[in-house]
Amino acid sequence: MIALKTVRSFIGGEFRESRSERTDPIPNPATGQAIASLPYSSAGEIDQAVAAALEAFAGWSETPVPERSQVLFRFKALFDRHLEELSAIVTEENGKTLEESRGEVKRAIEVIDFACGAPTLMMGQNLDQIARGIDEELTRFPVGVVAGITPFNFPNMVPLWMIPVALACGNTFVLKPSQLTPLSAIRIAELLQEAGLPAGVFNVVHGASDAVNQLLAHPDVAAVSFVGSATVAAHVYATAAGRGKRVQALGGAKNHILVMDDADLELSAPHVISSAFGNAGQRCLAGSVAVGVGKIGDALVRELAAQARQVKVGPGTDAATTMGPVIRGERKRRLIEYIDEAQTEGAQLVADGRELGSSDGFFLAPTVFDRVTPRMRIWKEELFGPILSVMRASDIDEALKLLNSSPYGNMASIFTTSGKNAREFKRRAQAGMLGINIGVAAPMAFFPFTGWKNSFFGDLHATGMDGVRFYTRHKVVTSRWL
Ligand code: NAD
Repeated sequence: MIALKTVRSFIGGEFRESRSERTDPIPNPATGQAIASLPYSSAGEIDQAVAAALEAFAGWSETPVPERSQVLFRFKALFDRHLEELSAIVTEENGKTLEESRGEVKRAIEVIDFACGAPTLMMGQNLDQIARGIDEELTRFPVGVVAGITPFNFPNMVPLWMIPVALACGNTFVLKPSQLTPLSAIRIAELLQEAGLPAGVFNVVHGASDAVNQLLAHPDVAAVSFVGSATVAAHVYATAAGRGKRVQALGGAKNHILVMDDADLELSAPHVISSAFGNAGQRCLAGSVAVGVGKIGDALVRELAAQARQVKVGPGTDAATTMGPVIRGERKRRLIEYIDEAQTEGAQLVADGRELGSSDGFFLAPTVFDRVTPRMRIWKEELFGPILSVMRASDIDEALKLLNSSPYGNMASIFTTSGKNAREFKRRAQAGMLGINIGVAAPMAFFPFTGWKNSFFGDLHATGMDGVRFYTRHKVVTSRWL
């Protein structure tokens, strides 16, 4: 029997194998076979990681900003060079297709690109002669030790929403990646070390809720960046903010895509399909509800069901595959329960993802329901899998009312050829990221990732200038020379 590799932690510039009691097997979701074993970090190790980050903060925060950005330029070059390898790690631990993994890593690189501009991004403001003989200046300073807590669905990109910006601004970092996908985090640590990041500036610990709660309670953690489900995001926000920390907590989603009857169905439907089923629907920007507005409903359902059946489900390493597995067998079973329950509640199943040949991997094919209503659980809850609900609305007012009644507000999209409909949608849709004829309206790194409602708890979002503001605090100096 081949010994499984043990996932290490990274503390104070050293890669370590934890001697912890709790160890999880990490399966490849396409095969169900274990690829690694993950020891959870002990409470003592988590304390050591925070202590290392706190110690390193003194030197790193004093390092000139252009020198910090030189480390990031080297890190970016390493990411470019290792794009294929980093993508392969994502596919191995998460299951998404290699093409999707490459897309993820490219998105991560964009954040490094943005953060390389730290000398410009960190500039303050000043006003000469704000009163007679008096000048005023605003300067940005780093916040301290940042804890980053991330989900399984983008094991490379989501940590990179945080790390480059936090480090560029002079903070130090402790990452606790998802216990379901811990491999990318360690490769990120190796590349940061190779780029010349001083020991202790970046650290990785492993575990689940106990590790998170320890970081939230730690007096030396100054700020928390969290991405995950809404319930946990609300808990992280309340706990860490209650202890006086800065928090940005990005939560779950239920994204609606309005397809107007003036839209070109042939051009629009493929975008709805890839929004719903890309990354096997395990994406916080997945369009999981398609709303046919006006007379388009029947034609829309026919088209979506036909295209859903064309999706090629298989291992992410196979070039022909267009959709990989879901993350775990247990999540697949929960998704099947949702499908069973939706049928009982009266939704019409028009593409059944359960009809898939047997495999040891965690595969579920695209599923499409028609005639979903707001009282059904599949509309109320985030399912986070390849299940698309189709609903009907008689006009844009009814469609917006439905969309706006969702407790989530991450993304919404409209497919239309009418400028008037697009404008109504842009002004009235209650979600922070909107797409007009775009299925996955993911802002690029230069803009913030602006979820609303239960999709975000906090004030300053991730990436863009919001990220810079989150990872810095201001000083305003008023001076007069007597
Ligand atoms: P999750 O909430 O289960 O886990 C996220 C992180 O929180 C992990 O590191 C996990 O170890 C930790 N955690 C889990 N339960 C906890 C608890 N009870 N107390 C403290 N910490 C806990 O999320 P997931 O299943 O890994 O990821 C999927 C979710 O993330 C979806 O809801 C998705 O919409 C969301 N997500 C949101 C965004 C966004 O930008 N809003 C982006 C990506 C993913």
